[in-house]
Amino acid sequence: MKIDTLCVQGGYSPKCGEPRQVPICASTTFKYDTTQHMADLFDLKASGYFYTRLANPTNDQVAKKIAALEGGVAAILTSSGQAASTFAVLNLCNAGDHVVSSAQIYGGTFNLFAVSLKKLGIEFTFVDPDASEKEIQKAFRPNTKCVFGETVANPSGCVLDIGKFAKIAHRNGVPLIVDNTFPTPILCRPFEFGCDIVTHATTKYMDGHSSQVGGCIVDSGNFDWAKHADKFPGLVDPDASYHGLSYVKAFGKLAYITKCTAHLMRDFGSIPSPFNAFLVNLGLESLHLRIRRHADSALKIAKWLKTQKKVAWVNFAGLPGSKYNKLVKKQFDGPSPCGVMTFGIKGGREASIRFMDSLKLIGIVTHVADAWSCVLHPASHTHRQLTDEQLKAAGIPPDLIRLSVGLEDPEDLIADLKQALAKV
Ligand SMILES: *Cc1c(COP(=O)(O)O)cnc(C)c1O
Repeated sequence: MKIDTLCVQGGYSPKCGEPRQVPICASTTFKYDTTQHMADLFDLKASGYFYTRLANPTNDQVAKKIAALEGGVAAILTSSGQAASTFAVLNLCNAGDHVVSSAQIYGGTFNLFAVSLKKLGIEFTFVDPDASEKEIQKAFRPNTKCVFGETVANPSGCVLDIGKFAKIAHRNGVPLIVDNTFPTPILCRPFEFGCDIVTHATTKYMDGHSSQVGGCIVDSGNFDWAKHADKFPGLVDPDASYHGLSYVKAFGKLAYITKCTAHLMRDFGSIPSPFNAFLVNLGLESLHLRIRRHADSALKIAKWLKTQKKVAWVNFAGLPGSKYNKLVKKQFDGPSPCGVMTFGIKGGREASIRFMDSLKLIGIVTHVADAWSCVLHPASHTHRQLTDEQLKAAGIPPDLIRLSVGLEDPEDLIADLKQALAKV
């Protein structure tokens, strides 16, 4: 099946007389006829559902669709994008381990790594994603267990050279994890460039209607854990909580996702409600149509903003002349990487605020990547505790506006931007 067909039919094929739409399986538990059958499930000797915290049929069908879209072997849904990033790392790292991460990542992920996981004893080194291989190599330590990056960084718009990062990660015997939330697998499939594990905030384009918060982790099945057994004892060595079972020996290419389910989901429990999984699936059925429209409209609007005298700068990797043009051409289907861009208004912070307050169609919202166009001013919102100097150091100028282009007619959006600019 081609990717547009997978959006509709991937992960679930009803048999004769079964529901057309993925059914919401609202059941915590599943009934069995014998004690032994249930015991085998608990020992991971048999596969089947027994408690929704570990696995649920609705969630699994939707995870299967996302795995198919990314070209992976298996996937697991989580209750949020943050939970997906947390589990993707915790499935490989213990206290005392180290991770190399791109410095250009979502603010929530940065805080998770630099503050919360650090408190659990996992150290992170943040690298400039545009740095040379030699420079990035310097960040590695003997206890480094993975590399993390974001395909298109939120909000900086920086495009990750996935091939470069995969090469460096593999040279050091560790996998590359990439957050592919912004392009979605329709516009970029990181596994094709050597990435090993992909994460998503399904909250964004996959849902696409701002109706639920959710996440997903997909494994390519390509990383050879056994070859680096000393680094990944959790996947290779016997697990005492499953009578000495080795995930790699028992599950082969499914080891990473099985461990994530049987260990992290069992113990930490960030499972999504099957109803939320159902909403994600409705979004996925039209993802291929929507994301291309988001990306096309964003390119149109970025080009228009660029011609406006009152606009100081526009940052969008799809714009002709962006330093990321070559990477976009290599890694993406089409010239535009997503529907989110940043720009500034001449006159700094005050002018940007006046502009935003004058918008009528485009809402002021702490969200991105859904059907409704919206803006956010990091200096007033997500980063409001920082001084202008600190903002500059963080790469967020005080005039920066993040615009997420929705599915409205781009002519209407341009008219709204135009009337707001006239008020500045
Ligand atoms: C929103 C977002 C997240 C976090 O997702 P939540 O569902 O809000 O927890 C992670 N990565 C990126 C790129 C995001 O945009």
